[in-house]
Amino acid sequence: MVRVSKVRAGSIAEELDIVPGTELLSVNGRELRDFLDWEFLAADDDLVLEARLPSGEEVVYEIERPEGEAIGVELVPPTVRRCANRCEFCFIEGLPPGLRKNLYVRDDDYRLSFAYGNFATLSNVKERDVERILEYRLSPLYVSVHATPWEARKVLLNNPRVPDIVSQLTRLAAGGIQFHCQMVIVPGLNDGDVLEQSLTDLWALGDAVMSVAVVPVGLTQFSHLYTGTPMDATRASGLLEVTARWSERAQRERGETWVFGSDELYLLAGQSLPVPSHYGDFAQIENGVGAVTALRDRVRAGLTSLPRLPGRRIGVVTGVSMAPLMPELLDQLTVQTGALFELIRVENSLFGPTTTTAGLLVGADMRRALGDRYDLDLALIPAESINDNGIFLDEQSFIEVREALPMPVYPSYDFIDVLAAEGGERTGPAGARNGDAAA
Ligand code: SF4
Repeated sequence: MVRVSKVRAGSIAEELDIVPGTELLSVNGRELRDFLDWEFLAADDDLVLEARLPSGEEVVYEIERPEGEAIGVELVPPTVRRCANRCEFCFIEGLPPGLRKNLYVRDDDYRLSFAYGNFATLSNVKERDVERILEYRLSPLYVSVHATPWEARKVLLNNPRVPDIVSQLTRLAAGGIQFHCQMVIVPGLNDGDVLEQSLTDLWALGDAVMSVAVVPVGLTQFSHLYTGTPMDATRASGLLEVTARWSERAQRERGETWVFGSDELYLLAGQSLPVPSHYGDFAQIENGVGAVTALRDRVRAGLTSLPRLPGRRIGVVTGVSMAPLMPELLDQLTVQTGALFELIRVENSLFGPTTTTAGLLVGADMRRALGDRYDLDLALIPAESINDNGIFLDEQSFIEVREALPMPVYPSYDFIDVLAAEGGERTGPAGARNGDAAA
C-alpha cells in the first residue's frame, strides 16, 4: 500500500486536493505496491493517477506536469521486509533486552538496499522481485554475501532454504545490476578456503561487483546464539593478508582496490590504516571502510578554519577501539587551537566490553564519563551515538544527558564541526552526517 503522509505546500498534489492519508492506487494503469513503484512509475510527465481519499472516495487524476516538477507528496514509510535467516552472529541477537522495539527488527530488504544502502542477503527475494530489480534497474545493490559456496552460506545464515547467491548475482549482473558486497567473517566458517573461493567467485563477476568489504564478526555480551570463535588480532592480520593480496591483483588488473578490510580489522590487527587513495570513492564508508582515514583527512583539511582557543580544557569522549588513534588527531588540534584536549576512553556499559565502537556508547556512559568533570570547559561526544531524534540507544535523550552534565556538551563527527564555531557564535547543530569521528 502506498499512502501519503505529507503534501508539500504549493505542489501539484496540493492543487489536486490530495491530502495526507490518501492512498495512491495506480499510475497509468499499473498497480502501486510500494514506494518503489511510485518512484519509478510516477516518473513520467503525463500521468493517470488513481487514488482513494481518506473519505473512501476514489478519484482519477489526469496530470500533465512541467518537466521535472515533483508531484509533491511524501509517503508513509514502507513496512520493511523481515529477514528469513537466523545468523548466530546477528547483531540483533546481541542486543540487550528492553530497548525500543524497532531496534529488534531484522530487516532484509532489497528495496532499502537500493534506496538507502542497507545491506541485504537477497535470501527472501522472489522471482517477481528479481523482475522488478531488473525492470527498475535497482543498481547498485548492497549485498551481504558472506560466502559464495552454497553449503557454507546456508550454515552462516542458519537457513537451509537460502538460494545460491552466485546464481542470483549472475542473473542480476546479466541485466546490468551492480553490487557492493560485504563478507562478515566468522572464524572457522567463512575465512580460509571459503573466503578465497568467495573472492574468486565475486571477481569472476567482473565489473558487476564494484567493491567487497571484509568485516570481522561483531559480538556483544548478549550474543547468546553464537558459540564460535571470536575475532582476534592474529585472525584479523590473516584476513588483511588476504585482502592485501587480492587488492594488489585488483590494482594490477583493474586499477582499483576492489576488496577492502574494514577499519575494525586494522584496529584489531594493530596495523596502520591505508591512505585516502586506497579507498577510491569511499563506496563503503558507511560500512566502516575508510571512515577513520576520511576522518583524518577532514581534520587535516579543516584545521586552518579553527579559532585560537588558548587554555580551553576540552574533553573528547570515544570508544575503546578508536582511542589509540585519537592522540595523533588531538595533537594537531592542540597545535592549531592552543586548547588542552583530554581523551576520555569509555567502555560500553550496555553492550559490554567486547563492544568497542564509539557510536554504540549510550547516555549512561556519557553521564559516567563526564558527570563529575567540573574541570572541563567543553566536551565532545560521538555524534553517531545519537539517532535523528536525539536519543541514545539506552533511550536517554541527549538533551536530558546534556542538562545533567556540568559542562557544555556537543555531538561531533570530526571535531572541526564543533570547534570551528567555538571562536564565534554557534549557528547550528554540529556537522553533516557523513563519517565517523569516533567509531
Ligand atoms: S541476515 Fe543474519 S545478520 Fe542480517 S538480520 Fe538476518 S539474521 Fe541478522
